[in-house]
Amino acid sequence: MNKELDYLRGNLENIMDRIDKAAQKSGRSHKDIKLIAVTKTVDIDRIRKIIEEGIIDLGENRVQEYAEKSDIIGEGCNWHLIGHLQTNKVKYIVDKISMIHSVDRLELASEINKRALKIDRTVDILIQVNISGEESKFGISPESAFDLAKQASLFNNIKVKGLMTIAPFTDNIKTLRDVFRKLRNLSIDIEKENYDNISMDILSMGMSNDFEVAIEEGSNMVRIGTALFGKRC
Ligand SMILES: *Cc1c(COP(=O)(O)O)cnc(C)c1O
Repeated sequence: MNKELDYLRGNLENIMDRIDKAAQKSGRSHKDIKLIAVTKTVDIDRIRKIIEEGIIDLGENRVQEYAEKSDIIGEGCNWHLIGHLQTNKVKYIVDKISMIHSVDRLELASEINKRALKIDRTVDILIQVNISGEESKFGISPESAFDLAKQASLFNNIKVKGLMTIAPFTDNIKTLRDVFRKLRNLSIDIEKENYDNISMDILSMGMSNDFEVAIEEGSNMVRIGTALFGKRC
């Protein structure tokens, strides 16, 4: 067996195990949590290996890299755009993307809707919320998320499926837990507004450093790169 495949399999097994344990703590199982393999900077060969292991949800944070890789990999995977998205780049991704996690302003939602309408499809999106309030982070404020959800619900060619956040990079479990709990509570509050045509089913939260806490706090979609593929170069 080749060394790299063993390495990937080992990491994947370890992650699945940890996902399952964290899910059980919140009364769920690993089946309730979707793992997105974050493939930014990861070469095609290793992406193919992880697909062969059954992981077909892949996350990229850059439009260019996503476009190149998804072209080479071809059909059969679900691609998630998880990084900041410039409005003028929507046209390059709208045809094949499965889900856009980083919608944080009306202008962007409107552009995705417009482009999706042109090709007669509906694009699933998440609203990215900046819970921690760090200036360096993209995402809409929790207060403004209501209005964005409401406005987005009026667009016929996008479908809001839930919320996404990126926690601060810290080992302080309490800080992390607080961020994840706030996103979960926000999704409950938005759900209560009963806007047409949107759902709050997905909570995309948790990365290599913090996915267990995120799952304990209700995440059902984790975006994992480093813990799976190793340190990015
Ligand atoms: C890079 C990235 C991840 C994965 O981060 P790791 O720490 O490598 O697991 C998750 N979400 C977003 C938005 C990212 O840009």
